Amino acid sequence: MAKMECYCGAVLSNGSDNDIQLRVYTQTEFEKKVLDKQFPHLTNLPEYDVWRCPYCERLYFFKDGKLEKLYVLENK
Ligand SMILES: [Zn+2]
Repeated sequence: MAKMECYCGAVLSNGSDNDIQLRVYTQTEFEKKVLDKQFPHLTNLPEYDVWRCPYCERLYFFKDGKLEKLYVLENK
C-alpha cells in the first residue's frame, strides 16, 4: 500500500477498497495487454499508474514510480 499527499492537503492511499487508483489503458494498450491474452489478468498493468484525488479531482500520472504528469481542473 502506498500513500501520498495531494497538493490540496488530502492524504491519498491505494489500499484495498479505494477509488483513488485508476486503471487507465489506451485502446491499443488494452487490446495488446488484456484482450489478446488467453487469460486476461491485471498482471498486464497499464503504462501509467493514475491516482485521482476525490476532493479536488487532480489526476496524477506516475510511470516507473515517478510523477510524469499532473492535471488540475480549470476554474469555472
Ligand atoms: Zn486533492
